[in-house]
Formats: sequence, C-alpha cells, structure tokens
Amino acid sequence: MQGDMILRGGRVIDPANGVDAARDLCITAGRLAAEPAPTARVVDVSGLVVCPGFIDLHVHLREPGQTHKEDIATGTRAAAAGGFTAVVAMPNTAPPVDCPEIVAQVYGLAREKAVVRVLQSGALTLGRAGKELSDAAALAQAGAVALTDDGTCIQTAGLMLEAVRRAAAVGLPVIDHCEDESVARHGAMNAGAVAQRLGVSGQPGLAEDLIVCRNILICRETGWPIHIQHISTAFSIALVRAARREGLPITAEASPHHICLTEACCASHGANAKMNPPLRTEADRRAVIAGLADGTIGVIASDHAPHTAVEKAVGLERAPAGIVGLEALVSLCLTELVHGGVLTLPAFVATLTAGPRAVLRLAHGTLSVGAPADVTVLNVNAEHVLHPAEFRSRSTNCPYEGRVCRGRVEGTLVDGEWAFSRLPGIAGRVG
Ligand SMILES: [Zn+2]
Repeated sequence: MQGDMILRGGRVIDPANGVDAARDLCITAGRLAAEPAPTARVVDVSGLVVCPGFIDLHVHLREPGQTHKEDIATGTRAAAAGGFTAVVAMPNTAPPVDCPEIVAQVYGLAREKAVVRVLQSGALTLGRAGKELSDAAALAQAGAVALTDDGTCIQTAGLMLEAVRRAAAVGLPVIDHCEDESVARHGAMNAGAVAQRLGVSGQPGLAEDLIVCRNILICRETGWPIHIQHISTAFSIALVRAARREGLPITAEASPHHICLTEACCASHGANAKMNPPLRTEADRRAVIAGLADGTIGVIASDHAPHTAVEKAVGLERAPAGIVGLEALVSLCLTELVHGGVLTLPAFVATLTAGPRAVLRLAHGTLSVGAPADVTVLNVNAEHVLHPAEFRSRSTNCPYEGRVCRGRVEGTLVDGEWAFSRLPGIAGRVG
C-alpha cells in the first residue's frame, strides 16, 4: 500500500497514552500499526518530534458565503501547513450553519477539497441571532460536533440555560464566545490607557467575566460541559480555576495572540491587532500563561479569522475583528511556552491533542494502534522568521511579520498520507 511507512528515530509524544519515548511509528494502510508492513518505506525523523495530529478547536473557514476571505481548500491547506490534521469550523458563515442542510453542505465541500479533517460546529440559535434555539437534534444527526454561536453569544441567561439543556439532551458539547454586549458595546480594543491614547473605543474585560461567570453557574445547574473560547482576562481564568477545583466540567482554550501579545500591539499594528476578545494587558497575558501552566486552560486554539486587506484597511475602529493563526500557532507557542520554560513539550502537545480530544470527546488525537494515522512531525529547534505573505491561507491579516520563532512543523499526515511536508524527499499535498 502506497502509504505504508515507518517513521524512524523520532521522539514520540502521545499525551493521551502517557507516551514520551524514542521509538519508531509504523503506519499500515492509513492506520497506526504495532509492526511495520513488509513493504513499508522508512522515513528518517531522527532529531524530530512525532505527535498525534494536532486538532484546532476554533477555526473560521468562511465557507459558505465568505470565500473572498478563505475557503475550505485554502483554510485546510493552511491547517496542514500549521500542523493540524483536524479543525473545528465555526458556524458564523453566510448563511450561518444553523440547520442540518448547511452542515451537510460543508461536509460535501470538505469531501471535495479539504486536505485535513473538517469537523463542523452548529449554531446554538437560528441565524446566530440569540433569540430562538436551533434544532440541536437535527444538527447532531447531520454530524455537527458541538454547538456555539461563536462571534457572539446568547445574551440572556434563561435562553442559554435552555440551550445547554437541549445540547445535553442530544449529547453535544457547548462552546461559547463569552461577551456581554451591553458592556462590550462593540469596543474596538481593550478599554484602558492605550485605547484612550489612541482615541479608540474600548471594551472592558468585565464583558467577558460576566458571561464566564454565568456559564459556570449554568454548568453547575445542568452538569453539562461548557467550553470557554479564547479566554483572555485574569479574572475569567480565576473563575474557571475555581470552578474546575469544584469539579465542574468547565474547560477553556487560549489563543496564541492572547499568549504572545498585549493591547500595546494595537498601537503598533492597528487593525491587524484587532480581535474579539481584544488583546488585553500584560497582567492578563501573564494570567493566560499561568492558566496554561497549571492546567486551568487545557487547550490552545488558533481562532483563525481571515479577513482581506481591504476589509482591514478601514482602521482599528471600523475593521472586522480577528486575525489568521493556523500557520503561526505552533511556532509562536513553542517559542513562548516551551522555550520560554512555561510548559514541557509533552504538556504543550497535550493542549493540541489530548486537550481538544477531551473537550469534544473525539476519537482523534492519539497514536493508539489501530487509530487513523493522523500525525504531526515537529522540529522544535528550527529558528525562522514568520512572513505571513508566505501563508497558504487566502488572508494574511495578523501582526506577526518579522517575528522570530524557534520551532516549526515539518510534516503532517492525515490517514497516513502527507498532507504537508518539508521533509527531504517527501512531497506533501501542500508544499
Ligand atoms: Zn469568538
């Protein structure tokens, strides 16, 4: 079989199985095997790290309807180059993914042109309008992996409570963008001294803290897991830490930009540093890092949010929120967290494998024998400079040009085939 191979000489890290050892990894007929097939090709990965394929819980593929920003072909190519073998697509497309027909449409498009696995989430409310609940059972049946109104969130506690109860009834996890709109008031960046100096509208961390607090209370009431997206404030992290100590099934993710950047970046990079929740203070950034270090935050997710240069050119106040992240996340976080001494390499790998696997109760994210051969190969020491113009994504909106990083993705296998490779002599579907 074409894909039979042995990845030889690498350091294999598989957090879900407690593995961190020098060993070979055998792939036969697209699956992980205990023994090599007789015809297996030997691939030398000595000096490299071999991990379960990374899973990104938070990606905007922009299809259907916004393919001038990104589509499933370009977005999944960016994912493969960024080390991801599975991405969870957010439902804030045009139209939004709020019914089974659109879930099916996305899966049809993914079968045609995706180079990594696409897992589609469904909207909690019709039109993501926060007024009327979507048909959770129908979305689950169509294959939605979670429910979220990402980009916004349900504003009233009563409707959120009912949404979580319905999600529980059909067995779908709830993931939530936490923002009280009456407090955030569409502020373009974090409220505070930098916003004042720039003369730009601000939104306080209170907007996030209120909804995180509400969600913890709804989680306690229902017992159903709620995953907090892109957590960004010190107080929200303290709330999640306390809730988890109490044993509540609350989980949280951090985005690379909240790990690496602060509101000061808005002054230097304008709209390319605009996202929601906004970049916060240095104290908040340190709290995100502390949350990762003690396991309060178990997932790193890109919140890959492509927008065109034209859309971003209208200035910080009016530009759409969000930056691309799929092709920068691993390099940025290896540099900041692993080389920065915050996380061990296995703990970092867990935030992209065992962590997201647990949140969505996925079958993916391990190197267990018999599992599909989704594998990510890293060089944790390669020094390089980020150039967004080289990204495979259709959009380049981010403040990372010229950033020096240590560590990068060398190859990505999906079902035992190279979706991306920079390994010598191996061609990936994405160059
Ligand atoms: Zn969001």
